[in-house]
Amino acid sequence: MPAQKIDGQALAATLRAETAAAVARHVAGGRKPGLAAVLVGENPASEVYVRNKRKACEDAGMASWLHRLPATATQRQLLDLVAQLNADPAVSGILVQLPLPKHMDEAAVIRAVHPAKDVDCFHPENVGLLAAGHPRFLPCTPFGVQQMLSRTGIPTAGKHVAVIGRSNIVGKPMALILMQKPSKDFPEAGDATVSVVHSRTRDLPAITRQADVLIAAVGVARFVTGDMVKPGAAVIDVGINSVDGKLVGDVDAESVAPVAGWLSPVPKGVGPMTIAMLLHNTLRAAMM
Ligand code: NAP
Repeated sequence: MPAQKIDGQALAATLRAETAAAVARHVAGGRKPGLAAVLVGENPASEVYVRNKRKACEDAGMASWLHRLPATATQRQLLDLVAQLNADPAVSGILVQLPLPKHMDEAAVIRAVHPAKDVDCFHPENVGLLAAGHPRFLPCTPFGVQQMLSRTGIPTAGKHVAVIGRSNIVGKPMALILMQKPSKDFPEAGDATVSVVHSRTRDLPAITRQADVLIAAVGVARFVTGDMVKPGAAVIDVGINSVDGKLVGDVDAESVAPVAGWLSPVPKGVGPMTIAMLLHNTLRAAMM
C-alpha cells in the first residue's frame, strides 16, 4: 500500500484557525499582536516568503508591517531598524528574513533582535533555552514538523528518528526537540532516540534505514530514495528545491511512497506548517 499523505496544508489551516481564535480572545483584553518583517535587498524567494507570512498574519487578525532596506544598506542601518522595532510596544515579533546580503553579519543581526520578540527562535538565548529543555519559543520549521507528527498521530516516544541535515534553522533544533524528555515546560519534546546525519556521515543509508521517522532537511532535490527508507516509516520532507522551474523536495516521492507508511508532500507539506507556527509564536510573544 502506498504511503499515506500527510496533508500539511490542511493541518496548517487547522492551526491557523486555532491561532486566529486565540488572537480574537487576546485582542478583546488588550493590544493586537503584530509581526514586523524586515526585508533587505531584492531576493525573489524572500519576497514570496515575506508576502505569505504577512498575509497569514492579517488573516489571523494580527497586525503586520514590512520594513524594506536596499541591498546597499549598511549593517548599522539594519541594526538601528532592529533596535527601533525592539523598542516599539506594538511589535510583538520581529522577523528578519534571511539570507542577508553578503556584507552583513547574520549572527550579529540575530543577536540584536530582542529575545522576547525573536519569533524565529534564532537568538542564542532562545537556542540555549531550547537546548536546556525550557524553551521560550520553538523554531518555526522544526516546530511545524513536530506538530505534523503529533497531529497525525505518529508516535516519536521511544522511536528512532533520523534527521538528515544539521543546520541551525532545521536539522539541529529538530534533533533538540525530538530527543528531549517532555515536561510541563516542554510538552512538545519527542522522547525519541535521534540520529543526526550529514555530508560527513559514513554509510548514511544504513542509518536512515533504521529510522521509524525520517526527516529530510538536506537541500538536495530528491536525495532520499526508497532504498534509504525502512518499510512503514514516516518520512517528512522539509526540502524546497527548484528543478526546471518546479518545486521539489529532498525526497524522491516516486520511489519512497511505495515503501514509507507516511509521507509529507512538497509543496503543501512542511512549508505551510512553518507559517502556521510563526503565527503561533507571534501570539505567544504578544501574550508574554
Ligand atoms: P543547509 O543549511 O544547506 O543544510 C543542509 C544540511 O544537509 C547540512 O547539514 C549538510 O551537511 C547536509 N547535506 C547536504 N548535502 C548532503 C549530502 N549529500 N549528504 C548528506 N548530508 C548533506 O539547509 P537548511 O537551511 O537546513 O535547509 C534544508 C532544506 O530545507 C532546504 O531545501 C531548504 O530550502 C528547506 N527549508 C524549508 C523550510 C520550509 O519551511 N519548508 C524552511 C527552511 C528550510 P553539512 O552540515 O555537512 O554541510
